[in-house]
Amino acid sequence: MDCVFCKITKKEIPSEVIYEDDQLLAFKDIHPSAPIHYLVVPKEHIQSIAHLEENHSQIISKVIYAAKAVAAQLGMKGYKLVFNVGREGGQVIDHLHLHLLGGWSKKADIEAMPHPRLDK
Ligand code: AMP
Ligand code: ZN
Repeated sequence: MDCVFCKITKKEIPSEVIYEDDQLLAFKDIHPSAPIHYLVVPKEHIQSIAHLEENHSQIISKVIYAAKAVAAQLGMKGYKLVFNVGREGGQVIDHLHLHLLGGWSKKADIEAMPHPRLDK
């Protein structure tokens, strides 16, 4: 099958892997849209969230848990987890993947500060 992410999981295309087990691979997004951007994919080819079946419930929870583990490993205090679903949902690669996005910690730190008053 001509699927980029299947090729990545089979190591036919190189990627910067941060986590792997028998069912999942997590690797750096090649065109990051955040300071930290990883993708978590099941090794099994599932087209999208819209194609999930009941027997996929374990693998999808593992995908989410792996994203949490990668984020914790990288010391990310907060992050976004995004599934794009279908073309109208912005999905370009038809192999289910979870985006782990973050690394805006400086902005988050500034926004966590008390609201400034310049006149006091
Ligand atoms: P989506 O729009 O949800 O289908 O996202 C697909 C993501 O895959 C995009 O963020 C791309 O930058 C990323 N991507 C495409 N090809 C590769 C690749 N060879 N290695 C790593 N990430 C990729
Ligand atoms: Zn695939």
